[in-house]
Amino acid sequence: MPELPEVETIKNILAKLVIGKKILSVEIFNRNTIEGDPFDFAKTLKEKTISKLTRIGKFLIFHLDEEIIFLSHLRMEGKYFYHEQMLETYDKHACVVFTFSDHSALEYNDTRKFGLMKLSSAATYQTSPPLSNLGPEPFDIKDVKPLLSKLARKTIPIKAVLLDQTFVAGLGNIYVDEVLYLSLIHPETPADRISESQLKGIISNSVKVLSMAIKSGGSTIRSYHPSQGIDGGFQTQLNAYGKENLPCPRCNHGMRKIFVGGRGTTFCPRCQKNPSLPYVIGITGPIGSGKSSVLSFFGERGYHTLSGDTIVKNLYHDKKVQELIIKLFGNNVVDESGNIDKRFIIDVIIADEYKKRGLEKILHPRVEKAVVETLKKAHNDDKIAIEMPLLFEAKLDDYCDETIYVDIEDSIQAKRLAERRLPLATLRALNTGFDALRDKEKATYVVDNSSSLSKLHKQLKRILR
Ligand SMILES: [Zn+2]
Repeated sequence: MPELPEVETIKNILAKLVIGKKILSVEIFNRNTIEGDPFDFAKTLKEKTISKLTRIGKFLIFHLDEEIIFLSHLRMEGKYFYHEQMLETYDKHACVVFTFSDHSALEYNDTRKFGLMKLSSAATYQTSPPLSNLGPEPFDIKDVKPLLSKLARKTIPIKAVLLDQTFVAGLGNIYVDEVLYLSLIHPETPADRISESQLKGIISNSVKVLSMAIKSGGSTIRSYHPSQGIDGGFQTQLNAYGKENLPCPRCNHGMRKIFVGGRGTTFCPRCQKNPSLPYVIGITGPIGSGKSSVLSFFGERGYHTLSGDTIVKNLYHDKKVQELIIKLFGNNVVDESGNIDKRFIIDVIIADEYKKRGLEKILHPRVEKAVVETLKKAHNDDKIAIEMPLLFEAKLDDYCDETIYVDIEDSIQAKRLAERRLPLATLRALNTGFDALRDKEKATYVVDNSSSLSKLHKQLKRILR
């Protein structure tokens, strides 16, 4: 979908081609492109000369003599093709063709046919719909106070507000992601939580992003057809949009894609924190490192605690999960009392990497969902500690403000594991996919749990909020 910078680019290209040209005839191949009477549209524009082209929001405005104006909105797939010589027949998606007195022609082509044209007049076009419904363009906003008081009455995500053209005009999906990235604001931040200085940041970053995009000719080049020689240079400057799973240019954390109001949204979970979520600390480390002691430490100090093991245990009782696990492992995975046999699963996945992956595919998204649901239900000033063996692998660190890696000396780990009923080799095999070095590197804190509990607590007290 062409956004403001693309429309600005189209305007600049078209201006060079059509200003000063006299319209000889207007052929309308798709009546629905014209809002109002198509016959009247064609008749009014006949014999008129195009004197100027302007743009407001994503509307192109053709100014003609006798104070006549027509507006054009490209919507999803609208394009203009300029022909130096009018054609005998036009493409099947041609909706409107303007033929000029010098036998050149301008074709409006729209495969999806959502684009619109509307006749208006110089006196009324800015004060009547659709232009009268548009909010100000970021370029024209000098004082953010009126917008701030509008935000204060909304609890929907800031991204949805910025996409609403009645709030500000000209920001589409790509640029909103870029602007929020630069402004360090989570796209789901409730609008009423945006401060005045954040809004100022949003507006100045909007100006910056849009100006840069205009300078390089827009970014969604494939959705329109500028005549010659313009390329979508801005795409190479995008930080957020379309960068899912790539490292954040600012902090190196993986960029994440979510859906906000049905629109694909990419952001950095580390740089763009959602202030309506509680403070979360994530705890990870190898099997037998004593993650649960760390979790209890926080639990005893007023944190809500959440453990990956408990979530998985609950999932094993979920009907849908049971079905999927039986499909993957066969009927033998069910024990005599009708429950999922964890020991059976462990024995299989140690030897079968494919089944292990299959199990993770079943569990990881559901564990994430359970965590997110807990976070969304939690009160804003709650503190939450999450203990999860594969915290980083399951990308749950995205939801954590800080993370702790619980380290342990190999010999002590072996001793602790020996106290459990499973053989060491089994537990170690289960730990594949767990990358200690990388996780240690990623974690905010590393604590050592090779000696006494009191020494562990001493380290944790320094982390405590
Ligand atoms: Zn980042």
